[in-house]
Amino acid sequence: MIDAFRYFLPVDIRFGCGALQELPALLESIGSDKMVLVCDRFFDQFGKDLQKKVPAIVAVFSDVEPNPQLSGVEEVVRLMKATGASAAAAIGGGSAIDTAKYAAACAYSDHTPTAHFEGLPFPQKVAKIIAVPTTAGTGSEVTSVSVISRGDEKKTTHSPLFCPTACIVDPELTFTVPPKTTLMTGLDAFTHAIEAYWSIHHSPMTDLLAIEALKAIVPHLEKSYRDGDKDARVAMSYGSLLAGLAFSNAKTAACHACSYPLSSYHHLPHGEACAFTLDSFIRLNADDRLQTLAKTLGFADCDALADEIARLKETGGLRTRFAQLEGAVDLDRIVSESNVHMLMKNNPVQFTDAQLKAMFEQLL
Ligand code: NAD
Repeated sequence: MIDAFRYFLPVDIRFGCGALQELPALLESIGSDKMVLVCDRFFDQFGKDLQKKVPAIVAVFSDVEPNPQLSGVEEVVRLMKATGASAAAAIGGGSAIDTAKYAAACAYSDHTPTAHFEGLPFPQKVAKIIAVPTTAGTGSEVTSVSVISRGDEKKTTHSPLFCPTACIVDPELTFTVPPKTTLMTGLDAFTHAIEAYWSIHHSPMTDLLAIEALKAIVPHLEKSYRDGDKDARVAMSYGSLLAGLAFSNAKTAACHACSYPLSSYHHLPHGEACAFTLDSFIRLNADDRLQTLAKTLGFADCDALADEIARLKETGGLRTRFAQLEGAVDLDRIVSESNVHMLMKNNPVQFTDAQLKAMFEQLL
């Protein structure tokens, strides 16, 4: 018996090595004669060169920071309003894509991005969004999510208005990502897939996507960052896209809930923050369904899968203990903010503060 489900995805997806060549034609075909390009800093020159080829690009913003700030969104909105742009195209990691998504949602608003960040609903009319990911991790190119920070306040906003009109996933763009970032973003994709699988909102459709994502990610993650192996990087881009498609509908859970205070107070990049608790939650969420998944992925059980994640983090030089992090540790604040985070409700196991604190104490 297959459970009933709904699956929503309005994004035109183009995947493949060399697919980037389709970008000028895609930008010209979306019916927008003025657009702002939001570019990752690494692709600044690429953005300027693209602007020469695509007259519709009226401005380029490339001052995107990791864990992108509301001030960047404000600047993109200012550029869009000043030029009359009706689209925001992003080329970069999740930070560039999320900046473009949030700016597109504010482009026709009579209010400031700050007002929307503080809770004012977005107008129904939004600018078009084109996303070209250059990391294999966030899946932001296919999600209805944008993650923006104001100082240390990191906030996830969900809205169907954030769904890109189209995306181009060209794995070759990820070939220049440094090893440690490749590992962190790869673990972010892994976390999206496993959290979509164990989320209480999972469905037969999201299970299919999550399992296929993990089958692509598990055998290729280490090779992709350690050797920069091109086939492995292509598999990681594919796995990241599938994981995005899975969690866009199933949502994420405990690892992501805990990642917010870890990024805000200890300044961990997003993938490293998710990975910080990933092996712990694999052990704590280990029910029959998860044991079956671990076996499907070639592990004896959930403990063996968790051990493999711990090994990857350790050998890849990621931080695994609070003692290695910046900033004073306030476990009670981390526990309470994680446990009230909306994503924690999606976890298959609900924890008391004391249980969550006991888990974090193991990571001191
Ligand atoms: P990022 O966009 O912050 O980029 C990380 C670093 O990699 C930057 O220094 C960037 O310049 C560099 N970089 C990117 N592409 C490169 C390339 N091809 N070659 C060399 N360097 C490159 O990292 P990310 O992990 O892609 O995105 C993280 C952000 O995405 C976080 O803010 C996170 O919260 C958010 N996120 C959003 C969603 C969503 O659905 N919207 C999902 C997960 C995470």
